[in-house]
Amino acid sequence: MGKPGPLSLNTMTVRDQFSLAQCVEACQRHGITGISPWRDKLAECGVPRAAKLIRDAGLTVTGLCRGGMFPAADAAGRQAAIADNKRAVDEAAAIGAQCLVLVVGGLPRGSKDIAGARRQVQDGIAAVLEHGRASNVPLAIEPLHPMYAADRACVNTIDQAIDLCDRLGEGVGIAVDVYHVWWDPNLAAAIARARGRILAFHICDWLVPTADMLQDRGMMGDGVIDIPAIRGLVEAAGYRGFCEVEIMSANNWWKRPGDEVLQTCLERHATVV
Ligand code: ZN
Repeated sequence: MGKPGPLSLNTMTVRDQFSLAQCVEACQRHGITGISPWRDKLAECGVPRAAKLIRDAGLTVTGLCRGGMFPAADAAGRQAAIADNKRAVDEAAAIGAQCLVLVVGGLPRGSKDIAGARRQVQDGIAAVLEHGRASNVPLAIEPLHPMYAADRACVNTIDQAIDLCDRLGEGVGIAVDVYHVWWDPNLAAAIARARGRILAFHICDWLVPTADMLQDRGMMGDGVIDIPAIRGLVEAAGYRGFCEVEIMSANNWWKRPGDEVLQTCLERHATVV
């Protein structure tokens, strides 16, 4: 198979080492041509300054992380989430992001109604969608591994995300993150079905054993995910974008020098992606 799409740095990968400004500088230093900031780093930098830094560096913004977290226990909570997502759309537009990544949210506090939470997700996205369309910011639903269904995202498979896209129409697509979808027995068919809807491709690896549900993701090549196989599927479904490296690793990669992390990402991107 051919070479992977270019590497993009999701700022979470060097969360503890670099500010957004330092991420931009590091991308230039290492010849990385894409970036995907999280909103906390963006807020810290200030949106206008961040937009200028990124533009001056000539980086492609492969996404803004993240919107979502729609379900809430009451109407006021749901409205607050919708308002926050509209602000996130504005931030994504300001930095020229190719999409706003949605981690859609899990169960409201005290609830056991996952079907209800999923309805709230659909309603929440629907309420933000017009603003996304008008701002030219596609919304990328990121299905998360089912271990996060309660507290982070009750959309857990690509099929489920595409069902939502089909119901919501224009302006919404999906982010395929190998960490969240690699286990799906229906993965090949689901990705084929996602043709034209894949807005982002996130890479890292699944470690065995995994010590922490959230912050023990592996560097590409250190785990059990057949990343080239999944890349082949997204490319066969028409995806021609970046490979965005997103590694949350409290006890390993966040503790190493940022430049070493980026150098390793580049090496693995060239050899195991
Ligand atoms: Zn991701």
